[in-house]
Amino acid sequence: MRTANCPKCGTAKTKLAPRSGVAERLLGTVTIYPFRCQLCAHRFTAFLGKLTTSPRRNYERVPVQYPAQVRPVHDSTQRVVVEGTMVNLSLRGCRIRTNQRLPMGCHVMLELQSGEYDLPIMIDEAIVRARFTDGVGLRFSGFLHSEERRIRRILDLRLQDYAV
Ligand SMILES: [Zn+2]
Repeated sequence: MRTANCPKCGTAKTKLAPRSGVAERLLGTVTIYPFRCQLCAHRFTAFLGKLTTSPRRNYERVPVQYPAQVRPVHDSTQRVVVEGTMVNLSLRGCRIRTNQRLPMGCHVMLELQSGEYDLPIMIDEAIVRARFTDGVGLRFSGFLHSEERRIRRILDLRLQDYAV
C-alpha cells in the first residue's frame, strides 16, 4: 500500500490517527482515514482502500533503552534528579522506568543519553501525564528544533513504514 506518505515532509513513517467528528466517520465508510505523520506531526486524510478501526493514539511509541535524568523545573535548588531508563519514545512523549516518585502534573526537564548520539538530548519542557508502579509517562511540551530533529532521526530509524 503506497497511499499514505506525508504530503508535507514526504516520509512513509505515518500512522492512522484517531478520527474526530461526524465527517471523518462518514469518510471512513469509503475508507478515507486520517493519518498522523510520526516525524513532522502533520495530520492529513488519505484513501486506504480497506476498512479498519481507528486507533486511540496519534503517535506510535518506539521501544528504546536509554539512560535518562528527569529534573522537576520548580525545584529551585536544582538538586532533585530522578534517574531512570527511557523505555519508549514518540515525537510527543515517552515512558521512563524509575523507582523514584514524581507527582502527576509535575513540570520537568529531561536529559537522555541515546545510543545514536554522543551528546545527550535535552527536552526543556515536559509534564508527568501518567504514573505507573515502575515509572512515569511524560508528554513533551517544548524543546529546541535541534533536539526535535535528533528525536525525529531516532524515530525515522526505528519506526516501520505505514504503521496501519
Ligand atoms: Zn511529515
